[in-house]
Amino acid sequence: MPERFLNRRLAEFGTTIFAEMSALAVATGAINLGQGFPDTDGPSEVADAAVAAIRAGHNQYPPGRGIADLRRAVAEHQKRFYDLDLDPDSEVLVTAGATEAVAAVMLSLLEPDDEVVLFEPYYDSHVAGIAMAGAHRRLVTLRPPHYRFDPDDLVAAIGPRTRMIVVNSPHNPTGKVFDRAELELIAGLCRDHDLLAVTDEVYEHLAYDGEHIPLATLPGMRERTITVSSGGKTFSFTGWKIGWVCAAPRLLDAVTTAKQFLTYVNGTPFQHAIAVGLRLGDGYFDGLRRNLRARRDQLTAGLAAAGFEVYRPAGTYFVTADVRPLGFDDGMALCRGLPEMCGVVAVPNVVFYDNEDEGRHLVRFAFCKRPEVLDEAVERLARLAGLGGDGS
Ligand code: GLN
Repeated sequence: MPERFLNRRLAEFGTTIFAEMSALAVATGAINLGQGFPDTDGPSEVADAAVAAIRAGHNQYPPGRGIADLRRAVAEHQKRFYDLDLDPDSEVLVTAGATEAVAAVMLSLLEPDDEVVLFEPYYDSHVAGIAMAGAHRRLVTLRPPHYRFDPDDLVAAIGPRTRMIVVNSPHNPTGKVFDRAELELIAGLCRDHDLLAVTDEVYEHLAYDGEHIPLATLPGMRERTITVSSGGKTFSFTGWKIGWVCAAPRLLDAVTTAKQFLTYVNGTPFQHAIAVGLRLGDGYFDGLRRNLRARRDQLTAGLAAAGFEVYRPAGTYFVTADVRPLGFDDGMALCRGLPEMCGVVAVPNVVFYDNEDEGRHLVRFAFCKRPEVLDEAVERLARLAGLGGDGS
């Protein structure tokens, strides 16, 4: 028998940090501010629509590209929020969440040894998708407090083998929302070097400061951008796994070729329900954002009071904090010990970096939880003061 079974492409990947830390939370009974999932259900109209779809017999395979009504609802959503015109038949593909979408994009559009430019810290499935395709990543580091990038770093990361740039905005784990000037710079480089752009916009409705701007809305980007999003975060049903890809027909055809051999299709009744969700009135989307902005403010203030240096996120479910002011210097060790020290689970940002020194001391907390849960977590985290050493 071979010594190891996992192939070379995946050799650097173990169990995801989210699975590891959620299992730790279950095992210890700690408050889970690690994996980003809400602890309350999304809108009842949307849940009712899923139940009704099951009862109405929408339980067999949907069409390969997703049910027509959801593809239409995605196109309407892109028009309503971003003034993008999409043909629901040739430019929208429904996927098993954004994760499958990203995998299908990488597996279908990359050749082995192509290079992909993305920002560090990165979301883990983006780099896993690149690796599964046999391609290589080139990283541009985002540094706190504002997580801006150095344009020279981005230019330097692009080479003759570069095929695409990945942009995740609002950005997990930092909460950064890329502004128009940054996106214009990225778009200019895509046009100049004839690159594709892949965007992960799953937190599109969770931009609290600044505005979410899809890269596809910038001049010349509509035809070269593959836009990925999903309903999980927008409707607080992260387990439903209904995502989508929007792209020009020939790009979408390519992505569909890979997607049909990954899950083939998924979640027929949930597709019906997410179509209902996407057509909810503006009040729903505004309410979601207001609600989560208040939680952001609550946890940000609580962590600061507990002694962390906090980098206020402009969007997403997450806030990143530097643990050094509390006398710790290793976020991974702290996260592994945190349940025992104070009954809270968080995620160490170091796993989102290749240049580990950039993220060793950073920890990510999720604030998509009920206010009383956040209050309790903050109270527990306040016990950390005095438990760290002098940091040396
Ligand atoms: N997106 C979620 C997070 O960042 C995790 C999803 C997953 O576990 N793959 O916490």
